[in-house]
Amino acid sequence: MSTSRQPVLFIGHGSPMNAIERNRWSDALRELGSTLARPEAILVVSAHWFVPGSWITAQPQPATIHDFGGFPPALYAMRYPAPGAPQLAAAIAAASEGRIRTTTEWGLDHGSWSVLCHLFPSADVPVLQLSIDQHATLQAHAAIGAQLAPLRDRGVLVLGSGNGVHNLGHAFRAWRAGDHTTPDWAARFDRAVETAVLGGNRVGAIIAAAQNADATMAHPTPEHFLPLLYAAAASDPDDSVDFPVTGFDMGSLSMRSVRFQRGAE
Ligand code: ZN
Repeated sequence: MSTSRQPVLFIGHGSPMNAIERNRWSDALRELGSTLARPEAILVVSAHWFVPGSWITAQPQPATIHDFGGFPPALYAMRYPAPGAPQLAAAIAAASEGRIRTTTEWGLDHGSWSVLCHLFPSADVPVLQLSIDQHATLQAHAAIGAQLAPLRDRGVLVLGSGNGVHNLGHAFRAWRAGDHTTPDWAARFDRAVETAVLGGNRVGAIIAAAQNADATMAHPTPEHFLPLLYAAAASDPDDSVDFPVTGFDMGSLSMRSVRFQRGAE
């Protein structure tokens, strides 16, 4: 029997359109969601909240934020009406001794809702978002992620939402050229992510991968990579690791998802 400790997830979210399309990626997230025990709350570290400072959403009803342009009306009509958890947000901020502060200035961006609408379609589990401090070092991100680990025993599912390889400029150029092949640098970096999370010192290995020879191509900017670091830092060294989703969208966009969970006892 496994215990009630919640897993930690890193989800490759890809295009916002995955929220309203039925495709390989949305089907895989539905399938993953069907295997998850209902958490007390979900704390999301989304690539799309990359700002100065570490903030946690603290309103009772967070708004659905449509933080993109040029998509069809159906995507702007999308709502994910999950409640917030203001008391939990305040407790997390208090436990951080000032490192994390509460805010009501954000809500749920598409890094959250495009994933949660498949994992938890009834939208009845409270959701918090934690921002990614754009001024923090890799070590500081890992330290904040590690502070989230005890929440797992309080029924909180920690979920990083980004992509293991994310170079949209390259992806769109290749897509316009009709090139759907996965470039070597993307395949190598995705494999480096896989190796890093499977190894003994996964936080150290992820920090090393962030600085390897392919990192600049794989992540011209760091915000889609960093949620993986938070997830790994919130994991336990004894957790089992599996990959509920793997593969590339648009040739180079890694859709790899990672699940850290306590193994069967
Ligand atoms: Zn994104």
